[in-house]
Amino acid sequence: MKENINVKLNNPRDLLIQGCERPWEVAVEPFKVAPHVYYVGNSWVGAYLIETSEGLILIDTTMHNQVYLVLESIRKLGFDPKDIKIILLSHAHYDHCGGLRPIKEYTGAKLYMGKEDEYFLTERPDLIYTEGYAFGSFKPDEYYDDNKSIILGDMTINTLHTPGHTPGTTSFFFDDKDEEGNVYHCGMHGGIGVNTLNDETIQSNGWPISMRDDFLNGLLKVRNMKIDIALGSHPNQTNMLALVDKITDTFNPFFDEFVWGKFIDGRIEMIKKIIETSKLSN
Ligand SMILES: [Zn+2]
Repeated sequence: MKENINVKLNNPRDLLIQGCERPWEVAVEPFKVAPHVYYVGNSWVGAYLIETSEGLILIDTTMHNQVYLVLESIRKLGFDPKDIKIILLSHAHYDHCGGLRPIKEYTGAKLYMGKEDEYFLTERPDLIYTEGYAFGSFKPDEYYDDNKSIILGDMTINTLHTPGHTPGTTSFFFDDKDEEGNVYHCGMHGGIGVNTLNDETIQSNGWPISMRDDFLNGLLKVRNMKIDIALGSHPNQTNMLALVDKITDTFNPFFDEFVWGKFIDGRIEMIKKIIETSKLSN
């Protein structure tokens, strides 16, 4: 089946079908992005493993049928998935939370999510976009509180509520330190797709148009943060998979202080365009 690996698809619907029905085609080898941060996602959806002095943190879970790839990646890196103590969900769309139930059951990890996405699980499961693919229901153990850091061992993660892509989308910021004491500021925007904010979708979702302004304000808030290593909730956001071949023992291609600003600027342009050309009024 080797010839099927890395089939290039662009349409989200085709990517979903591929990811759920032929997950082996989206498999990628895990790799290190920061001293204690590892990529354990696939070619479409990101997932990150953070090593701390008291266990592991997993950001996002990919989809139900891809869970075996996440567990395999974690083991290949030399970690035991059962050491995952905390799962952080960026937002409650299927590509990020489809694998949550099996991973939570297997690890017993504590789940944090944005409170504003919880109604997807109860009242509006259509907004999870499972498209009929396997999905195990779940409940959060904690909601994010931007005034309360999430701490595990020597790692402290700060959250920022950045609604727009979904109401509860949450972004993550933390410092990672290497053996020499160099500190790297890491950042992940929890959801930057403007696909949920166009006229048609925002109306069918029943969201206020002000969600677009909330999204823009969130982008403006994070735009000037000093981020050395940008983690994409999808790897294509910052072209991560194209950089994997450049990794050496002494060179980290993900360390680039300009990537974050460029990436966020691109999104600011996109949402401004949607706001300007919208036919809806407040
Ligand atoms: Zn999403």
